[in-house]
Amino acid sequence: MTPYDQDNIFAKILRDEIPSIRLYEDAETLVFMDIMPRADGHCLVIPKTPCRNMLDATADQLAACMGTVQRLSHAAMKAFDADGVTLQQFNETAGGQEVFHLHFHILPRHAGVSLRPPGNMADMDVLNEQAEKIRAAL
Ligand code: AMP
Repeated sequence: MTPYDQDNIFAKILRDEIPSIRLYEDAETLVFMDIMPRADGHCLVIPKTPCRNMLDATADQLAACMGTVQRLSHAAMKAFDADGVTLQQFNETAGGQEVFHLHFHILPRHAGVSLRPPGNMADMDVLNEQAEKIRAAL
């Protein structure tokens, strides 16, 4: 397996070398808004310690992430009055992964509403407003 790259974009977010809209953190995990959201409230949960994806993660890293995923899923659903939530997690290029630091996508869902197409940058003012709603729901 390719070794972990200390200069991947989420490692830079963890080190505060590039900006992010942070929602929550604890000793083991960090949550921030996805800048190309496929649904309102789309956010990402990552471990604070390095691993490329689910395949090289430790059981402790996965457990910590899932606790935070559950907590943020409840908050994001509440913030957007969602009917459900979709989790996405991709592994290696063939599995759809683009950023090689383990992350879980939380996507609040409304009945009958499709995910938006990938690759569209959000308006940062809108993203900040949405982040505030999720923080308030936490
Ligand atoms: P994937 O590795 O396929 O799960 O995709 C990486 C995800 O990270 C995509 O949904 C991107 O929109 C998101 N992303 C990439 N760069 C940033 C960033 N600087 N801040 C927040 N989200 C990002």
